This record gives sequence, structure tokens and C-alpha cells, in this order.
Amino acid sequence: MAVGVFDLFSIGIGPSSSHTVGPMRAAAVFAGELKGSGVLAGVASLRVDLYGSLAATGHGHGTMTAILLGLEGFHPELILPDEVEERLATIAETGMLQLAGAVALPYGVKDMVLRPLTVLPRHTNGMTFTVSDADGNVLHSATFFSVGGGFIVREGEEDAALQELEESKKELPLPFRTAAELLEHCRETGLGISEVMRVNEEDSRTPEEIRAGLLHIYSVMEGCVATSLKREGVLPGGLKVRRRAPDWYDRLRKESARPAGDRQDGAGEFHDPKYWQEWVNLVALAVNEENASGGRVVTAPTNGAAGIIPAVLYYALHFAPGMENASQQDRDDVVVRFLLAAGAVGVLYKEQASISGAEVGCQGEVGSASSMAAAGLAEVMGGSPAQVENAAEIAMEHNLGLTCDPIGGLVQVPCIERNAIAAAKAINAAKMALWGDGSHRVSLDEVIVTMRETGKDMSSKYKETAMGGLAVNVVEC
Ligand code: SF4
Repeated sequence: MAVGVFDLFSIGIGPSSSHTVGPMRAAAVFAGELKGSGVLAGVASLRVDLYGSLAATGHGHGTMTAILLGLEGFHPELILPDEVEERLATIAETGMLQLAGAVALPYGVKDMVLRPLTVLPRHTNGMTFTVSDADGNVLHSATFFSVGGGFIVREGEEDAALQELEESKKELPLPFRTAAELLEHCRETGLGISEVMRVNEEDSRTPEEIRAGLLHIYSVMEGCVATSLKREGVLPGGLKVRRRAPDWYDRLRKESARPAGDRQDGAGEFHDPKYWQEWVNLVALAVNEENASGGRVVTAPTNGAAGIIPAVLYYALHFAPGMENASQQDRDDVVVRFLLAAGAVGVLYKEQASISGAEVGCQGEVGSASSMAAAGLAEVMGGSPAQVENAAEIAMEHNLGLTCDPIGGLVQVPCIERNAIAAAKAINAAKMALWGDGSHRVSLDEVIVTMRETGKDMSSKYKETAMGGLAVNVVEC
């Protein structure tokens, strides 16, 4: 299947799409194969090897516990936050893992083999699962790579996966892998960027399914914010980072309330436009604090960058011109068009560069999300295809070179605040593009390729290894 909007916006658990969602998905695939191949009953031992970045920052990113859940057969998009806590507590208490939900094995986090200095040729986020019988004979073994945004690739199938991707793209009504191709479709058909994406999505889903699916994605984003605002205290992991979103919310509701009798917006809330920046900051912080807690989030397009698109979409729904009197139907239209346009830009990053912090640094995560959000906002504020492309380009241009250096390997500092800053950049990028006519000096394709090349040149210290930058220059506690 070609990368689509529902691949870029998938529902999972925090704190990391590449280090939590991808490994859990790979482990669940492996568990499913054990069940399907009939070898499960003969399994007497299990070995998990983690390589490169997964081994280096796995503890802070919840990689090991996510793998345990995947090996039990849980999938990131289906598992409930309560199930996560319940199963992990049981495994820790009993020291027993229910492999594929059926075979009890003594296994836990401490049994995993960590190889932080070994990087497999395909990708730095490598993991190998091996099961053996009572005589030590290997029954089944598989190596997977978590390549960013929760996507996984099995070793030996990289070319086949690429070929399959290419073939499925040719079948799409309006295939594109570059912004130039996307804009050409817009020129030829007269469609906007979100509409080109919608036409391609209709290849695999009905229009009703697409709309309902995207509105569901947004409802999960809203639910994530609502859950986060009810929590208190410090984030898990030992850094003692205090949750700020709940207090900010209380303060903001008081300070930004309009006088009684003033008009409500379409969502039934009062919002003084003077406070738009504070609301955007609040949503970004709330999502990323929930992500850091291992809660339910929408990868957008990764977990570390999950707060940017909800924050900018919040701006679009509450502060963009004309939204004050918008009907629910109009608001839903905004959500759908925003996510489709953002998804179209996300496809460009997946196709030409990477959205993985372990591959290209934070520019691939936060930079891509900022660029996607800028495109979404420009689209719903009436931008032409050229202006939408310009908005995406501006947002990425000013995120180039952004390194990944999370303190303690936790997706907290600088990640949480960085989402708020990148959301502000996205809004500014959209506004700048909308004040222009779409013509500009650097194309989106050029900036995407520059991001990829900058990522290649970046030292591995700054690519989700927690071996450079803030991660080594700040005392953890
Ligand atoms: S610094 Fe950026 S890429 Fe690295 S974990 Fe944080 S959000 Fe992800």
C-alpha cells in the first residue's frame, strides 16, 4: 500500500512512535507468526536483541515494555491505557510473559540483550526476536527495523516493501512523491492539495469512511488533551518534569473568558483572540505531556511531535477568520481538509527523506510535523496549492538542522516545549505564505532533500541516542 493519511495519523501509545509503537508492532507481528506457524507450543525460550538507538534510549522511550506487550499479542492501535498498566504490573510481579497470549515464559525487561554500539545496515532502530525449543534449536527468528512514525520493515524485505510501495502508487489515481508532482496534479485537475489527497484515499475507502476516519482521529486528539488536563504531578521517568498543562488551563480559562452574554464560538467556548498563542501552547503541551506519560495519542506523524498538528488545528478551529460562527458541519470540513493537506505533505517527507529522529534528527520529526501543520492551516485558510506548498516549505526551512538530544533519553526535554514552538512556527509560516502569491525562491522539494542530506551529515550523537547536546550537558536531577 502507498503511504496514506491513515498511516501518517495512526492511534498508538506514547512516548515514541519509532521506539514504542514500532517495536510493539514488530513484536506483535512476530507473536502472530508464532501462532500462525504452529511452533508456539514447542517454544521453551525467547531472546530479544535490541540494536543501535533502540538499545541506547530504549529505557527512556518505553521500548522494552512495549516489546513485552507486543510479544503478548497486543497491538498499539488497540491496547487501552488501563491494559498497558495492568499487564506490565503483572509481568513485573510474576516475572512471566504470556507469549502470543498463550505460552507462559519467564521473561522480563532485564532479559533483553542491549547492543547500543551495533547498528544494523538497514537502520539504527533494529531488533531481533528468536525463540528456541527445550534443546536449544531455533524455531523461529526475525529481525525488524522501526523506521519512524510507527512504520516497521522486516530485514530482507526492504526491497520488496519498496517495490510494493512503488506498484501501489502507480495504481493511485493521482500518484505523487514530490511536491512538483503534487502541484502538477493540482494544475491539471483544478483541485486543491487536500482534494488530490482525498481522490487518492478514495482508492481504498469510501468518502464517508474517509470523513468518519479523520473525524475519529481528531476526536482522539481532543480526548488526549482532555485526559492530560485532568492529570497532576510530575511526568514518569525520574527527570521530575512537572506537568504544566492542567494549571495553565485553569489560568487560561479565567483570563481569556469573555464577559457573560458575549457570543460563543461554534464549539460552545469563549476565546479571547488575544490569547491565541497561549491556547496553542496549551494544546501542544497537553498532548506531549500525555505522550510522555505513555498515554493514548495520535502519531502525527510521530509521537515525539504529536502535539504540533492538534495545536495548529485548534488554532484553525478557534481563531482562524470566519470560525466564530461556523456550524458543526463547517468545523468538521475544516478538520478533514486540514488533515488531508497535512497528510499530503507528510507523504512527501516519507517519500523523499525521513520522519525518523534516529535517521535525520529532530528536523525529521518536529520539522516535518511543523511543515505538515503549516500546509493544513494554509489550506483551510483558503490558500492556493502554491501557497500551501510555500507554507510547508517555510516551516521546514526554519527547522533544518534541528538535532535530537532528549535528556535521559526521555521524550520530555526538549520535546514537549519544542512542539509548542514548532506549532507557532507553523502558524507564522502559513500566515507568511498567505500574504504572498505562492511564488518563492526555495521549493518544498529542495528543502526536503536538504533536510535529508543534513540528516545524513549529522553526527549520530544527535539522532535519538541521547549521547550529545542537552542530553549530556544537563545534569539529569
Ligand atoms: S528531540 Fe525531537 S526527535 Fe528527539 S525524541 Fe524529542 S521530539 Fe523526538
